[in-house]
Amino acid sequence: MKVENKAEADITTHDQNPYIIVKSLLKESVQTLGLNENVYHLLKKPMRVFEVAVPVRMDNGEIRNFTGYRSQHSDVLGPTKGGIRFHPSVTLDEVKALSIWMSMKSAILDLPLGGGKGGVIVDPNELSERELEDLSRTYIRSITPIIGPEKDIPAPDVNTNPEIMGWMLDEFDKLRGYNIPGMLTGKPLIIGGSQGRIAATGRGVVFTIREAAKHLGLELSEATAAIQGFGNVGSMTAKFLHQLGVKIVAITDAKGGIYKKDGFDIPALLDFVKGGNTASEYTEGDSITNEEMFGLPVDILIPAAIENQVTKETAPFIQAKILAEAANGPTTPAGDKILEEKDIFVIPDILCNAGGVTVSYFEWVQNAMNYYWKESEVNEKLEERIVKGFERVLSIRNEKKSSMRDAAYIAAIKHLVKAFHARGWIK
Ligand code: GLU
Repeated sequence: MKVENKAEADITTHDQNPYIIVKSLLKESVQTLGLNENVYHLLKKPMRVFEVAVPVRMDNGEIRNFTGYRSQHSDVLGPTKGGIRFHPSVTLDEVKALSIWMSMKSAILDLPLGGGKGGVIVDPNELSERELEDLSRTYIRSITPIIGPEKDIPAPDVNTNPEIMGWMLDEFDKLRGYNIPGMLTGKPLIIGGSQGRIAATGRGVVFTIREAAKHLGLELSEATAAIQGFGNVGSMTAKFLHQLGVKIVAITDAKGGIYKKDGFDIPALLDFVKGGNTASEYTEGDSITNEEMFGLPVDILIPAAIENQVTKETAPFIQAKILAEAANGPTTPAGDKILEEKDIFVIPDILCNAGGVTVSYFEWVQNAMNYYWKESEVNEKLEERIVKGFERVLSIRNEKKSSMRDAAYIAAIKHLVKAFHARGWIK
């Protein structure tokens, strides 16, 4: 019998627990803004948390009972929204933190949505396709009472994709008895997905890097970058950076890493990965470890995997001018302190990777109208939101002489506080 939640025990230090990290960032920002502590008390807890059993009959006849969660942080701005991740290191605290980050992203980009997040403690690589479909359908069935297009709208996240969204949508529709395309986003185009959604997070990341480069006077066509993670977000970020002339010299993934001083031929690498390979299996270039990649003399470093990667161990070696947090929560507080001391320009996760939820918002809007936009329209609207969000955060940073991270939290909290006032929660 396999233990399903050993990961719970793995997060031992406070410095690595994302829920403790986000609460202390919220507290600090509320204090910086001179707001009443009540604001912190309202923000610190998700309004609703759901834990579910996800039993799956495995191909060998054994039943494995996985654990799943859904956290709904706040719906003061609109229905809660956020992805579902399948990962062995999912914990309740992680899902809670991720749901708070979703609220922050929506607030910074002025989306009429709240924050939610779901997760199942599972390594999907150990499952057959049938087992994965069963897990996806069972999970969505078990959270059905608390989701829906007007309540809480799931989407893809780590290790989930449009195909999985298609299974989940189908299961939800069967239970409800009719077609409800807006119940989740990131689904295949044919059943109500949006143009541009797959590329949206990476596209958004690159818009923020472009704005940061403008601010710093960095010429992107002469710049180099390294990316940790080559899933949806990492690979799309590579694609758009390459189009801007940035040389991608290193990429690492869960299996290893690759390095090429002159930069990779990204379109060829994307084709290689499409064929079912992982980036680190690419034979052009030398192999490199994750630790070595963090220390490369690149201009832009992009963690695009999971939490707690830029730490007190890795941060001292970072030489990049820009750290673009394509992942959620990649930097620990101790890592952050080192980045600040080194004057590295951080594009914080809640701004950097908010392109995904933005196009998810567009998808949900299109589902409600049952009328669909061209890709160029989606991309233009995305660019406008991201650039405005970036400017909002940068101007707070300049005004408060704060870090970009603190400025992003301040921008989000200011926005949420307006809604608290409007609802009479705070006077
Ligand atoms: N999982 C993505 C995120 O962390 C997207 C969420 C969504 O599209 O709702 O932002």
